Amino acid sequence: MVEWFGTAMTDRLTVFTTVLQEHGFRLTASRRAIVATLVASNGHVSADELADLVHQSTPGVGRMTVYRTLELLTDLGLIRPVYQGSAAAHYILMDDGHHHHLVCSRCHKIIEFKQCVLREIEQAVSKHYEFEIQGHLLELFGLCPDCRG
Ligand SMILES: [Zn+2]
Ligand SMILES: [Zn+2]
Ligand SMILES: [Zn+2]
Repeated sequence: MVEWFGTAMTDRLTVFTTVLQEHGFRLTASRRAIVATLVASNGHVSADELADLVHQSTPGVGRMTVYRTLELLTDLGLIRPVYQGSAAAHYILMDDGHHHHLVCSRCHKIIEFKQCVLREIEQAVSKHYEFEIQGHLLELFGLCPDCRG
């Protein structure tokens, strides 16, 4: 289990840095620190939480640099902001352009699931609306095992 996560984390870091460089963005020390921290945290962090984490490992990285890098990574489709209520957006990692959640309406626990059921729908919708789809975030709401009673 631990090894699998370790491998996945390294792969993700490679994907993030490769996409940045492919789009002509230099991999500065600041960007590298921000991306490494984001991937290590497995996402689901707000911009301020990430800035605090980055500050712990690399004190020289400013808050604005973290904000701008998050915007850049969002533009490149590597992450997405998720808004819940009035709280600050949380950023999730878009593995292969998609990400799936089961969200408990009562305790607000989030369960990730891998099974993708949307690829066919993506194709059909893309064709119908002549819309180039780059990915999806799927959130299903309900009650988790603990809250079902
Ligand atoms: Zn629950
Ligand atoms: Zn997630
Ligand atoms: Zn999917």
